[in-house]
Formats: sequence, C-alpha cells, structure tokens
Amino acid sequence: MPSLEAFADAKLEELAARHLRRELSETVREDGLWVTRGGRRYLSFSCNDYLGLTHRPEVKAAAIAAIECYGAGAGASRLVTGNYPLYAQLEARLARLKGTEAACVFGSGFLANVGIIPALIGREDLLLLDACSHSCLFAGAQLSRAHVEIFRHNEMDHLGELLAIHRSRHRHALILTDGVFSMDGDLAPLDDIGRLASTHDAWLMTDDAHGLGVLGGGRGSVYMRGTKAPVDLQMGTLSKALGSYGGYLCASKSVIALMRTRARSLIYSTALPPASVAAALAALDIIERDPGLCGSPLEKARTFTRLANLPRAESPIVPLLLGDPVRALEAQALLEREGFLVVAIRPPTVPAGTARLRFAFTAAHPHSEIERLAEIVRTRILERAA
Ligand SMILES: *Cc1c(COP(=O)(O)O)cnc(C)c1O
Repeated sequence: MPSLEAFADAKLEELAARHLRRELSETVREDGLWVTRGGRRYLSFSCNDYLGLTHRPEVKAAAIAAIECYGAGAGASRLVTGNYPLYAQLEARLARLKGTEAACVFGSGFLANVGIIPALIGREDLLLLDACSHSCLFAGAQLSRAHVEIFRHNEMDHLGELLAIHRSRHRHALILTDGVFSMDGDLAPLDDIGRLASTHDAWLMTDDAHGLGVLGGGRGSVYMRGTKAPVDLQMGTLSKALGSYGGYLCASKSVIALMRTRARSLIYSTALPPASVAAALAALDIIERDPGLCGSPLEKARTFTRLANLPRAESPIVPLLLGDPVRALEAQALLEREGFLVVAIRPPTVPAGTARLRFAFTAAHPHSEIERLAEIVRTRILERAA
C-alpha cells in the first residue's frame, strides 16, 4: 500500500482501538429540537440553536431576501468587493448590543480567533489561556508565536502567579478565556480576571460563543452581573443562538480598524454569503425584542439539573462527566434507545479521563421530556455509576 494511505489507515486504527475515532452521521434537523438520523427521529439535546432561530420564519425570509438582492455568494474578500451593505448594519447592531464602540464580522468564530490573536500579539508578547478554552483560541495562540502560558481552569491564584512571573519579560500580554466554557457549561469569573488584567497591564479577550442570546438578557456573559464586566475584546459567533453563520469581534474603534487592516482571516478569505449576514440581523431583532426567550434555555437547563440531582446549571450547557470514552458512548447509546440525541464528547475535545455527555438546552424543549430525560439520567446513568 502507498505510504500515505498506510499512514492514514494506521492512525485511524490506533484511534479506533482507543474509542477515539470519530465519524460523521448524516442528520436532518427539522428544527432546533427534532432530528432524524439513520431512519429514526430523536429529540436533540446536542444543538447550539438555543433559541430555535435556524428555522424561524422571519430569519429564513431575511436570508432568502438577501440572496435575491445580493446573490448566493459574496464574490470576494471584504477588502476587495465583498463588503455589501448588510455588513455595516450588522456590525453597528453587534456593537450596540455588546456596549462597544465598534465591531468586525469574520467568516466564522474559528476564523475570528485565528485572525484576531495574531493581529494583536506577536513573538515578544505573552498569552495566558484558561486550560479549558476552546480549541480555536489555542489555534490563534499558536499562530501568534507569542510565549504561551496556560492557567488551571478558572483558578485566579494560578493566573496571578503566572502574570507575576512572566509579565515583565514581555512587551504586551493578552488573557484569553471562554466566557461560557463550551464543554463544561460554567462561566469565567470575568470581574476577577479583569482585575488581574488591569493590575498587570494585560488585555482581556473573552470568547462568548455560548453567551450571546442566552445570558445577560441576551447581551452575553460579559453582562451576567447586570453591569458590563471589564473585558476589552468580546468575540463570538453568529452560528449558535443567532442560528446563522459567521464570527465577530466587538471592541474599540481603534482595535476594529486594526483588524480590518491586519487580521489575515478577514483579509484573505471571502466575505460571508449575504444570507448569513441577513439571517444574523433578523435574529438580533428577535433577541432584542424578547428577553424572555433569551432567558428560557438557562431556565430549562436548571430544571434539568434540579430534577437529575446535578450541580445547578450556570448556562444552557450541562456536562455529565463519565470519565472513560466507552462509558460516555454507552450512555449516549442508552439515551438514543429512549429517543434522545445527546452526543458523547471525548478527548481531545476534552482532557483525557473526562469523557462526558454534553446536554444543550433550548427554549423549546418540552418540560415533560426534560422530566423523562432527568429521570433516566438519575436512575440509569448516575446511580449505576455510583
Ligand atoms: C463553536 C465555538 C467556536 C467556533 O465558532 P464557529 O462560528 O462555529 O466557527 C469558537 N469558540 C467557542 C467557545 C465555541 O463554542
């Protein structure tokens, strides 16, 4: 066999032996709740479509109208001819919602992070990341070629120690963390991180992919305590609660102007399809009009954690740690037999030894089904594990 295919096959076999091989399952999402997979219909607890906006008629209509007006694709990078009029509207709306001077939209959340971080931080600088941060923050960190230090998850003493040791040896320093941790569902202590950042002259960026639209009255994790936490750079995605696709950064005018000039993932990648930008705008209308809708996914998650006897949910994401990938896959299969789709999350998405089920609650999950799910989790997964 040629060496390339031999390499790929050997790698796949090795991963399969450790239950870490992944495969795509064709899935038809009827809406945010019901999905069909392998000929069977499931109630999904694995979509990030927290408010059901991917299938909301107003959102779809806005996307269709944008295709009619501006076409199916953008035709070029935003800096060439791809900057159609909807972009300015969306950026103004995002900045207003997040309480910043300006905003910049990118091709995706992943592209935002790999563009923003190297545009601000270079070889002489220091990056400090929470250990549980999303993979694309680590990817951006690597591209920056800065000195990287990782602090233990949400441990402020450790972050303080690392700043005390390393800060003075570097020109600039940037602290990176998820606002809502995507696989743990807990929140970063943004006020405390902000205080450390200001003491050590470091900048602070949060990845709020799972906060926008569902926490802080829809404004995201930076507004969890009502007032704005001291965060310089709020990035996030249009692909979760907003039900569309794309990424963004909300920050000062100067920083946003620098992004438009220097972020490689903005400069060298085609602008978003007009449908995505229009859908995000329509979704923002709904979020701004309906704070009750925005609060609902967290309420549902808290109903579940109360009924299942789990620690109280801090966000719509609830992890159930099972440790071994085989146990996580078995729990997934058990829930599938009961008609629930809850995808097992395995390393390297989470640290070794912390494979889990990850439940994502949405505004539309029926109470009766949450009760049934909690009962099964409590009696057939947790008690058997104890
Ligand atoms: C989903 C996610 C991203 C990536 O966003 P996309 O727009 O899907 O590329 C980034 N950060 C976090 C924390 C996420 O959960």
